[in-house]
Amino acid sequence: MDILFERIRVVSPAERRNQEAYLWIRDGVITYCQIEPPQHVPERTHRINARGWIAAPGFVDMHVHLREPGHTHKETIATGTSAAANGGFTDIVCMPNTEPPIDSPAVIEYIRQRASGLVQVHICAAISVGRKGELLAPLHQLIEAGAIMFSDDGSCVQSAELMRRAFDYVAPYDALLSQHCEEHSMTKGFDINEGLVATKLGLRGYPSVAEDIIVARDILLAEYCGNRRYHVSHLSTRGAVRLVRLAKSWGLRVSAEVTPHHFTLTEDAVGAFNTNAKMNPPLRSRADVEAIIEALAEGTIDAIATDHAPHTQEEKKQFFSVAPNGIIGLETAVGLTFTKLYHEHKFSLERIVELMSVGPRQVLGLPQPRIVEGEPAVITIVAIDEEWTVEPERFYTNARNTPFGGWQLKGKPRYVFNRGMMWESQL
Ligand SMILES: [Zn+2]
Repeated sequence: MDILFERIRVVSPAERRNQEAYLWIRDGVITYCQIEPPQHVPERTHRINARGWIAAPGFVDMHVHLREPGHTHKETIATGTSAAANGGFTDIVCMPNTEPPIDSPAVIEYIRQRASGLVQVHICAAISVGRKGELLAPLHQLIEAGAIMFSDDGSCVQSAELMRRAFDYVAPYDALLSQHCEEHSMTKGFDINEGLVATKLGLRGYPSVAEDIIVARDILLAEYCGNRRYHVSHLSTRGAVRLVRLAKSWGLRVSAEVTPHHFTLTEDAVGAFNTNAKMNPPLRSRADVEAIIEALAEGTIDAIATDHAPHTQEEKKQFFSVAPNGIIGLETAVGLTFTKLYHEHKFSLERIVELMSVGPRQVLGLPQPRIVEGEPAVITIVAIDEEWTVEPERFYTNARNTPFGGWQLKGKPRYVFNRGMMWESQL
């Protein structure tokens, strides 16, 4: 590996840097990064005219379902991490709803051994044994084994008492608790968001307030237990935006993530029972999407995360009410984010990089990689103006359940560098 990006824009908000430079990476190390071109470049060095591209500290997706162990017909650690690299990510967090779930150190060790490639896999372990919401998982052991956050994702901890004890148990480690916020008694058997579309199609609705109620409860618990670290997964409602904004104004250590589909699509995408628009939380109303985009701009939302949820075509081809929730997202996230937030809503490049790189690392408590000479290259490179068509058949994920096939996007991941390795995107 010996590659020189000429006149690339280095965007690294943690170093307050946004300027065109010559970026030279050799054997996984940043050997040169200056405004002036380097002298004495050997013949063998691969030079790339990178005008219109950016180099950012490696992007992080803090919400990925790798499906292994247990559901390898949907995805494996190998295919999921390849999809992450292909989509422009250097780091991901895998969620615990595997089979068996990530509620014991043995499962963490299993994933560790299989995740040795370019993409670093961080572990989100379960809060409760079997994700059943009854008994606390061995949280201290899981932290010692390397878990960097906890959630029963796919399911929500219904018992306030159990959640309170989880906050208390992780306090000595100051560990991060996250929640899939859903008051289950209000959402039993839901199909899509409660509203006009659900009524028109005769589908069962998930009222947005069922998400807000849990966000409010958990914020109060996090404060009561001594201002604990708390993270709202895949936030989807205007009400939850208001609550997170309020919690931050109180000085609480509360954070939130949003998926690209929740800032791109509304419930109208369900159209004529399109199961690739069926997810949990469901696509919401126009007012929710507008509130989310405002929150992304102002800093109420800390991270963009995909909730990458692979399913087979056979599973998704079933009747709408039977088909499983979720869509894949690793290979469309960068394109959707640049198309919607940068080109359409005019977010700054710094804000985009904060949402995809700096923000998630801050939430997770990971060190921020720097783009300076002598440092290992932990870098994502994006052609921010390049237009491309989403062709799911080119994806590295095993799954094809996306509503974005055929979409025209502007902004394409080109390379990632991490752990001494390089990936050139094949999208
Ligand atoms: Zn979830």
